[in-house]
Amino acid sequence: MPELPEVEVVRRGLERWVAHRTVADAEVLHPRAVRRHLAGPDDFAHRLGGHRIGTPSRRGKYLWLPLEDTDQAVLAHLGMSGQLLVQPHETPAEKHLRIRVRFTDALGTELRFVDQRTFGGLSLHETTPDGLPDVIAHIARDPLDPLFDDEAFHLALRRKRTTIKRALLDQSLISGVGNIYADEALWRARLHYERPTATLTRPRTTELLGHVRDVMNAALAVGGTSFDSLYVNVNGESGYFDRSLDAYGREGLPCRRCATPMRRRPWMNRSSYFCPRCQRAPRVTA
Ligand SMILES: [Zn+2]
Repeated sequence: MPELPEVEVVRRGLERWVAHRTVADAEVLHPRAVRRHLAGPDDFAHRLGGHRIGTPSRRGKYLWLPLEDTDQAVLAHLGMSGQLLVQPHETPAEKHLRIRVRFTDALGTELRFVDQRTFGGLSLHETTPDGLPDVIAHIARDPLDPLFDDEAFHLALRRKRTTIKRALLDQSLISGVGNIYADEALWRARLHYERPTATLTRPRTTELLGHVRDVMNAALAVGGTSFDSLYVNVNGESGYFDRSLDAYGREGLPCRRCATPMRRRPWMNRSSYFCPRCQRAPRVTA
């Protein structure tokens, strides 16, 4: 799954190449790609026509295109393999092209949703007064959002009977932190993933949030180079950041701080990577 930095790279690409263009028509080539739009593919295409796209927005891993002068927005679900491409009209259709959006201007490019596995798609939603698609109104702000409330997050951690990695992945507390960046931030903060959140002091929470932001900004800095080209895409693999990872995927390799072999443990149908020396397991109190 793409994480926040990958989605932000796509958002920036869309802001550059798609914002403020008026939709001429939309063509749905595979109904599964609009299955979340209950009124069906024809209705979806019809409702987009004639509207100008506003500034693409993001919260956590959710990305949407507001339709200007309406209370509606197109939410993009990238799923495992979804890509949003801005392509010249004459570029042959991709093998897994699902949706094509043409514009009224003469820029010569169109927006394409390409998805090999068709877990992703586009859907149209009413927006809340904050401008969020209603289906994601419950999603918390992400740590790169200037309005993210560090103090409220800390107090929520203290109140909850949960462990720190679960909390980092809880989209109602903090959004946009996935498995990869959670492991990276915890390694930087020297926190074990099963540390009870109620034991975190305010300075520890502040430090952890700082590491979460640093990891995401580092990924953005690397991925940000790719949105200069016309080709906007996300492949769901976080590929361009792989070489910079300190924890995720490094089982058996020496910790970059203390050289102890890194470990991997099964965790909620995923894996947690950590250094057994830098990130001590919490003592079990029975
Ligand atoms: Zn270590």
